[in-house]
Amino acid sequence: MGCSGVETVTDNIFLVKGKNKGRFPYSHSILILDKEIVLIDTGCGIETLKQLKREYDVSYVINSHTHPDHSAGNWVFKDRPIHVPEEGFDTSGNVVALSKRFVSEELAQIWQEFAKKHMGFKNCSPTDSYDERTIFNFGKTSLEPIYTPGHTRDHYCFYQRREGILFSFDYDLTSFPWYGHRESSIPEFRESVKKLKALSPRVVVSSHRGIITENIGVEFAKFYKIIDEREEKILSLLENEKTVDQLVECSPIYGKFPYVKSLLKYWEGQMIEKHLEQLELDGRVKKTLGATHYKQAF
Ligand SMILES: [Zn+2]
Repeated sequence: MGCSGVETVTDNIFLVKGKNKGRFPYSHSILILDKEIVLIDTGCGIETLKQLKREYDVSYVINSHTHPDHSAGNWVFKDRPIHVPEEGFDTSGNVVALSKRFVSEELAQIWQEFAKKHMGFKNCSPTDSYDERTIFNFGKTSLEPIYTPGHTRDHYCFYQRREGILFSFDYDLTSFPWYGHRESSIPEFRESVKKLKALSPRVVVSSHRGIITENIGVEFAKFYKIIDEREEKILSLLENEKTVDQLVECSPIYGKFPYVKSLLKYWEGQMIEKHLEQLELDGRVKKTLGATHYKQAF
């Protein structure tokens, strides 16, 4: 294996380490060397992708979802088939269409620049779509797509059932579960985590944390609990009434906005609003002052 920064998952499945240790705005990719050579996700960094392209005759590319930290480098393989989730097919590889999905109209331009400049994103249309009915067979390896919305509406995990290997992508078992788009959903995110945990995988391969082999049940429970902790944090901030903007200033989720403040603040606001919606449904928070502020309901 000439490529540096590769870890072995099985004798023919490899984790290709992403730039910046696979942290956003990059992610780890998966390389499968079977009868067909397949690359899953292209957010590991353009240089690494070009190196992979030189070393391997990649048959096709698959994206777990349309986020650019997983798809920015599809263009490096634009002469090969590119398979993306059915739910993301229309917008995949199109920076303008994606910006409309992922941020507000005012932030669209900033988001587009960020994707191009920091992730190397270039427009590249997909050729094929998949959904939960698809089974990917590469030779001796077969992967089942598992539909896991909540993070985005087009997020899939892949399960290699024979050996119990789950490719969990952005259900990444870090301390930062993420559901910051209009299309994201906390109830769906929770369901997706439960669905993955119920598989009781032997190994989890996470896009931003790499290979996890121990305490997987506990890891999923911890990941899930962070959502509850955020809810409690937001509730405690509402002892005194606050607007969403004031809550964003307290930053109960990100904690700080170290780069492209405007985007991070927008996503913080989106996540806070989703928690407020849940807290209101549970009768724990109510709107006050002509529905501009929120306050604890007890
Ligand atoms: Zn993502």
